[in-house]
Amino acid sequence: MNPIAEEAMRSSALAQPLSLGWGEVKEGLCILGVQALAELDQWPVVLSWVLRQYQRPEEIPATIMQMCILLYAKVGHETAIQEATRTWLFCPATVGLGAYRTVAELYLLCVLLPLGRTDDARQLVLGEVGSRAFSEDQRRLALEVSFYATWELRSILDRWDALSVRDEGLNVPLQLKRYMAAMGNGQPSPHRHFLQCMERKLFRMDVQHDADEVFLAVLDFIQQQMDDPALALEIQGLYQISVELQLQCLQCSCTKRRPSFLLSLPLHIKEGPNSLEDCIVSFFQLQDLSGIDSCFCAECRVKTPSKQGFKLLSLPTILCMQLQRFRNSARGTDKLDCSLAFPDSFDFQDFWKLNVFSQDFQKNGSTKYSLFAVIVHIGSAWCGHYTAYVLVPEHGWFYADDSHVVRATWDDVRATYGGRGRTAYMLLYRRNS
Ligand SMILES: [Zn+2]
Repeated sequence: MNPIAEEAMRSSALAQPLSLGWGEVKEGLCILGVQALAELDQWPVVLSWVLRQYQRPEEIPATIMQMCILLYAKVGHETAIQEATRTWLFCPATVGLGAYRTVAELYLLCVLLPLGRTDDARQLVLGEVGSRAFSEDQRRLALEVSFYATWELRSILDRWDALSVRDEGLNVPLQLKRYMAAMGNGQPSPHRHFLQCMERKLFRMDVQHDADEVFLAVLDFIQQQMDDPALALEIQGLYQISVELQLQCLQCSCTKRRPSFLLSLPLHIKEGPNSLEDCIVSFFQLQDLSGIDSCFCAECRVKTPSKQGFKLLSLPTILCMQLQRFRNSARGTDKLDCSLAFPDSFDFQDFWKLNVFSQDFQKNGSTKYSLFAVIVHIGSAWCGHYTAYVLVPEHGWFYADDSHVVRATWDDVRATYGGRGRTAYMLLYRRNS
């Protein structure tokens, strides 16, 4: 007998028949039956076999319900168990059972989310089953999986009344605000109008767009189309990396400084292994300008060889980094699969001696950052698909592929460092408070 069956035997009714009723004995025998069928690879008949023993789904004990969900989820046939679990959860007789919550949780995490039924998942969490089975925190979890990554943005958009917006269908920030509210209310296809609006304004949805191109376009529309400039600036401020553009004359050593800003940090990936630290340091390295690239120096009054580049003036709340994996060459555009190792947290303080900061750097908060989302590119430069890993505090990583959301681990996230398949394309770090 295998160890699981042995354990079930020990804990089941058969070990102490005298102190238990027929229900418990039947349950113990049924557990053994399910295990036997699973061991014989007969999992497709497990549910119908269990139903023969109990007639109606709602009479199946919670422990057997859990076994069935886990079994069908393990072999990737969540559809087979969906209807029976739903009937079980919605039957008044099962509500009082101690393990009701576990069954509801397994149904959400092992059946609905892997099947991509996010609308059903939201309805479950927000509806009657959710209120019986989940604490307030857990109810929020499933919703947060889809939009947690941008809660700062959502809270600013919530404060915007958009009263003077005329052409609503063409207003990107207004559609974004409604999209986020619709997600929060568990409405089906909440993104539909937002995508239609983006399509009308700029994009054709049937052609490929870089994730960072869309990201920067949305931020740009927010600045152009919000009728409340203060709130628009507040949104920009979330992502704004203030920098100083330095131009150093190599002849007279005078330096011109001009403040500027970036909304994401473009990181150049070189052939071979890369580290996030190397990429950041190299972004802030001054580049030599000589020959035809020489710049006019006001002191020397001629074009002189110089050095030019960015230095950090202040750090943002949300630090977005774009990994430049696409290269144009004579053959066309290529995708670089080289690995870039990124940590789940880092401190800009560690770059202090690496010539990254301007002398006027403003320390306006912590210099420590924690990774909370990774946008992943799957495929080649010609044809690809974007997915994302999102960290939900206290609940860990989730992987979102369109509406298909499953639990993930930090090891899964690290598997996007490089190589063929899923590669990290944008990294989102949040400043520690
Ligand atoms: Zn000069």
